[in-house]
Parts: sequence; C-alpha cells; structure tokens
Amino acid sequence: MTDRVGFIGLGIMGRPMALNLQRAGVDLVVHARRVESMRPLSEAGAVTCASPAEVARQTDVIFTMVSDTPDVEAVILGANGLVEGARAGAVVVDMSTISPLASRVIAKRLAGQGVEMLDAPVSGGEVGAINGTLSIMVGGSVSAFARVLPMLEMMGTNIVRIGENGAGQVCKCCNQILVGATIAGVAEALLLAKSSGVDPAKVREALLGGFARSRVLEIHGQRMIDEDFRPGFKVRLHQKDLRIVTENSQALGLALPSTALVSQYLNTLVEQGLGDLDSAAIYQVLREMNASGGGHPPASDSQIPVSIR
Ligand code: NAP
Repeated sequence: MTDRVGFIGLGIMGRPMALNLQRAGVDLVVHARRVESMRPLSEAGAVTCASPAEVARQTDVIFTMVSDTPDVEAVILGANGLVEGARAGAVVVDMSTISPLASRVIAKRLAGQGVEMLDAPVSGGEVGAINGTLSIMVGGSVSAFARVLPMLEMMGTNIVRIGENGAGQVCKCCNQILVGATIAGVAEALLLAKSSGVDPAKVREALLGGFARSRVLEIHGQRMIDEDFRPGFKVRLHQKDLRIVTENSQALGLALPSTALVSQYLNTLVEQGLGDLDSAAIYQVLREMNASGGGHPPASDSQIPVSIR
C-alpha cells in the first residue's frame, strides 16, 4: 500500500479503529488534542502531530473520528485544520456521525482544493471497533471508495457505498431512527409484561424466536430486564444523532413522529443528569411515567373493560 495514512480523533471508537489499521501494517500519522489519547498509537510506532494541518502535510488518506458536526468542521476547515495542509489528490474519510447537510458542504470546500471526501459513519459500537467488525456506510465517489476500501476492511466487515457525498450520513440517520424506535418499543413491551405480572425475561425469550426478534430486543431488552444501564451507546450520543435526524428532516419538510417521541425520552434522561447511561435507559423514563399505574395487575374486575370481562 503506497498511500500514507493519517488518523485524527482517538476516543472510544477512533483509538481501536486506528490500532486495527496499525496491526494490519499501516504506518500511521496521528493527532488528538490530549497527548494521552495518542499514547497507545505512538507506543506502537505511530508518528504524532500537533495539529490536523501537520497530519495532512504528511499523508494522502486521512481518517477523522471526532464527536459532532462542529468538531469535524473545526478539524477539517478550522485554524490549523486539514484544509491548510492537505495536498491535491488526498482523500479525507470522515467516520464521525454528523449532519449529512454539513458533510456535503465540507466535501464541496475540500473539492475546491482538489481533495476528495468520503463520509463513512459506522455502526457496531466499541465492541465492533475493537473487533474490526463495524458496519460502515459510505458516501462519495466510486473511485475514492475503491481507493480506501482495503483500509475500511481493516476496521469493518459490512461496508456499503450508499451513494454520493452525504449518503453515508443519511444512512446513519436511518440506522439511529430504527434503533431508537425499537428501543422504545422493547421498553413498552417489557413494561407491559412486568405490569401484567408476567415474567419479562420469558417474554423476551419467546419473542426472540419469532417475528419481533431483533438485536435490540436481545441486547437492550436484557439490559432493561437487569435494569443495568451501563453504556453501551450513551444517551447523549443518541440524543445528538436524533438531533441530526431532526435537523435533516426539518430541512426536507418531513414529519418523523417516532423520532420526535424517542428524542423526548433522551432529552428527559439528559435533563435528569443521566446522559452517560446506555440508551436502553429509555425504559427507566417510561417506567417513571407510569409509576402510579404500573407494576401490578388491575385491582378489581371493575377496571377491566366490560367487553372482555
Ligand atoms: P469520544 O470517545 O468522545 O472520542 C472523540 C474523540 O474526538 C476524542 O479523541 C477527542 O479528542 C476528539 N475530538 C473531539 N472534538 C475534537 C476537536 N474539536 N478537535 C480535535 N479532536 C476532537 O467519542 P466516540 O465514542 O469515539 O465517538 C466518535 C464518533 O463516533 C461520534 O460521532 C459518535 O457519534 C460516533 N459513534 C460512536 C459509537 C459508540 O458506541 N461510542 C458508535 C457509533 C458511532 P481528545 O481525546 O483529544 O479529547
């Protein structure tokens, strides 16, 4: 492989992803704001840089994995950003989850300087990042995709080019709508079971063999049954992702009521200071909403509708 490779953003996701590239034999040039974030990479031989611009001066393909839209804008277009050092012919691959609209604007700015961009957000969480089994959704040109595919294959197993710039981020929005709505549905089902005096663990077990089967029922369902909301995928990150969905849908004039509902659950958790819990904690908010009515079967026959008495 002849491309020299940079990696910026070495947090929960970025660090194991960069380590997987390194283990596969890629010589890396890295940057993070905090020196300790770079240490595992530098100890394994990576070159460290003081700024994104410095990374760009030394590399041909640069991966970014930072937090939110303003962070990607700062890293790529800001002072000492990639744009100041990137050479014509370079490719920037942004793997953060950010606004599709902003991603297209950034791609256009880079194109003006002869630099291509791919948006390549991921699904699969920290475990997928560590194991190199991420699902990667890519937007951008066919040629840039073909050029970086061997590197994406070092980090993920299900890699799909969805379409042009921004299409990967749109796909990630779709992913977050589905995951959020399914968590809310699983929470309602398990609360109904528990409030009916029926064992939610048995309900989960039975439903996992039928049409309602899902990874969310399997994993988040278990977390709800155990009331163990250690992350996992944090509430505040899911809230950020649904904010991106909402911005995008408003720009398109689309109503997405399930997204609005799930956002309210997540906003409530953040307001309660619980933004660092796993987003399965939606169950907790739902249970609190029903605190006076849930938890026991109807007290008397008079509470049962006449039609089914
Ligand atoms: P994280 O642990 O908070 O790491 C973010 C990294 O970005 C940190 O290393 C931080 O640098 C760096 N960073 C943030 N803003 C920066 C800026 N303005 N300039 C330079 N560096 C900056 O977050 P994460 O969990 O890895 O998530 C990264 C992205 O992946 C997010 O967009 C998230 O939505 C997405 N994602 C996360 C998961 C998950 O399960 N965690 C799953 C799928 C997708 P310092 O270390 O120097 O502070």
